Amino acid sequence: MQVEKGRHFIGRFKTGSDLLGSLTSFCDKENIRLGVFTVIGAVRSAKLGYYDQALKEYTGCVEVDKTLEIASCVGNISLKDSEVFVHAHVTFADHEGNCYGGHLMPGAKVFAAEYYIEELEGKELNREHDPETGLSLWKDM
Ligand code: ZN
Repeated sequence: MQVEKGRHFIGRFKTGSDLLGSLTSFCDKENIRLGVFTVIGAVRSAKLGYYDQALKEYTGCVEVDKTLEIASCVGNISLKDSEVFVHAHVTFADHEGNCYGGHLMPGAKVFAAEYYIEELEGKELNREHDPETGLSLWKDM
């Protein structure tokens, strides 16, 4: 699916806010229905999901109750059930450089988070249940 570049946003999420919640709220507020983003910064704690491919559910949940760098947070924005849906993957690093990575879940508390969000323009991209994986995915294109 071909897309065009839309609006670009750069800024910072509030200290104490939820990282995934902040991304979703911002996209809702700006009506960003398709896009990509990066975030760098730091969190006070983290929560990550791991999808078990055999069980077809998020079984693993890594909760890290310490301050961490957001070494990388990348993802995309599309629609699920006609609502804005943010899909983010992250790598968090501790004071020794040890990393925790996975699917960003609600529960990562922002210490400082600088975002860059790029809106894309094109046809609506909706996530739908994919029986083969059990995930809500985009249709094959
Ligand atoms: Zn994911």
